[in-house]
Amino acid sequence: MDDSEHGDIRAAVRKLCERFPGEYWRRLDREMAYPAEFVAALTEAGFLASLIPEEYGGAGLTLTAAAAVLEEIQHAGCNGGACHAQMYIMGTLLRHGSAAQKERYLPGVASGELRLQAFGVTEPTSGTDTSSIRTTARRDGDHYVVNGQKIWTSRAAQSDLMLLLARTTPKDQAAKRTDGLSVFILDMRDAKTAGLTIRPIRTMMNHSTTEVFFDNVRIPAANLIGEEGKGFRYILSGMNAERILIAAECVGDAKWFIDRASTYAKERVIFDRPIGRNQGVQFPIAKAYANMRAAELMMREAARLYEAGRDCGAEANMAKMLAADASNEAANVCIQTHGGFGFAEEYDIERKFRETRLYQVAPISTNLILSYLAEHVLGLPRSY
Ligand SMILES: Cc1cc2nc3c(=O)[nH]c(=O)nc-3n(C[C@H](O)[C@H](O)[C@H](O)COP(=O)(O)OP(=O)(O)OC[C@H]3O[C@@H](n4cnc5c(N)ncnc54)[C@H](O)[C@@H]3O)c2cc1C
Repeated sequence: MDDSEHGDIRAAVRKLCERFPGEYWRRLDREMAYPAEFVAALTEAGFLASLIPEEYGGAGLTLTAAAAVLEEIQHAGCNGGACHAQMYIMGTLLRHGSAAQKERYLPGVASGELRLQAFGVTEPTSGTDTSSIRTTARRDGDHYVVNGQKIWTSRAAQSDLMLLLARTTPKDQAAKRTDGLSVFILDMRDAKTAGLTIRPIRTMMNHSTTEVFFDNVRIPAANLIGEEGKGFRYILSGMNAERILIAAECVGDAKWFIDRASTYAKERVIFDRPIGRNQGVQFPIAKAYANMRAAELMMREAARLYEAGRDCGAEANMAKMLAADASNEAANVCIQTHGGFGFAEEYDIERKFRETRLYQVAPISTNLILSYLAEHVLGLPRSY
């Protein structure tokens, strides 16, 4: 997945992003508004349907192609956070959904008629401990009845469909703590007038995230994905793709920060010389570049294994962690290189700094990746 790979896709994404300069994102950021025009343009160009097979109207591309799309969006200074979930959550539907579910939803998602942007997993009391979620789905004839609450359900207000994880068997009656969870396709267009309440949460960056309340929300049993009780496995099977795509976004962010920092360090003259001539200014940028490249290589390795159908759990997790660290480091260096101007809104750096900070915590925090590596790669005792 070097820059020469998927060159046509990269060039097309870059061209599209030129229509959405810093001023566009600054205005949205001030208003905490959704980048509807940007998402519509990506949809129209087919980029958000990259991973949908051609038989359902998508582009049928590989994960590396989808990663290239997201990397270029971030590298151009735009923000794919407004729509990236559509790429990684549809994997659950693709791999585990029935033929009828795919025929019903995927063509609409591919054409942009239907938005599958919301992923309801996290809850206020369970956080990272997904098996402890309390939202329940109780079978009632040919429906399930959902009660409970989700938090940080990003883009729920802008999406038509939500992929929802809920408990169908109480934890103390399930054979394993991860059993008894089920995944549903929730059509929020119906549910919004029948027990579903969405409340926006204002955050440090513009991310359109919400909390969602379920009060006897009815979902047709036909919208259960796969088998009842196996939902945790279905969600897990999509995690590696999600980690690789988020890593690609972070690599794109890091490249944007490094480009900006290097350009400014060459141009800004203080004490009669460019600040970039000072090693105290150039070394942090060079170090951020080295760390970005290392993360990029790990991301490529994870994608290579993924596409070969091999286990890539460790590499996908490491790619996500290293890339999030690299973008965070590059963001910090970029502000430092710009001195006071790094804090000025019109430079876009403080906005991108706030946006990329998220990936230290979501969709999985660094500590949990380290725990995964310690336990599953190094054989150390499980710490939680
Ligand atoms: C802007 C935003 C958007 C999001 N979008 C979505 C979304 O669309 N859908 C969705 O389902 N979720 C979403 N999330 C939720 C996100 O995935 C969680 O915030 C994340 O998984 C961490 O969960 P938590 O916030 O409950 O933290 P907690 O689980 O409470 O953890 C708090 C801190 O403690 C640490 N910690 C917890 N347990 C351990 C342990 N055993 N060992 C070491 N450290 C530990 C964590 O690393 C973290 O730093 C979003 C979050 C944010 C902030």
